[in-house]
Amino acid sequence: MKMVYSNESLFLVNNIKNIIEAAGIVTFLKNEFTQGAVGEVSVFDCWPEIWVLENSDYEKALVVIANVQKLLSMDDWICNKCGEKNHASFEVCWQCQHEQA
Ligand SMILES: [Zn+2]
Repeated sequence: MKMVYSNESLFLVNNIKNIIEAAGIVTFLKNEFTQGAVGEVSVFDCWPEIWVLENSDYEKALVVIANVQKLLSMDDWICNKCGEKNHASFEVCWQCQHEQA
């Protein structure tokens, strides 16, 4: 068993857990219900954590998480060629197919 992800937001942790499981990886949460204990122990110790059951799934889970975080951190972008606004998940402009700079 290995921990693959931890964040103070249980909402975010649950979302990422769902995405990892959609990739066929068995996961479980730790610290899901310890949020109320903040103050007695360090905040970081109370963050919900995603663990993979099989160590062999560890690398795969990290790749899934990296892809999710990339999407989450990206902003909408403006096409250099036609000036159209594109959603972060598009790699080429939806209007003119110009590649994102
Ligand atoms: Zn364009």
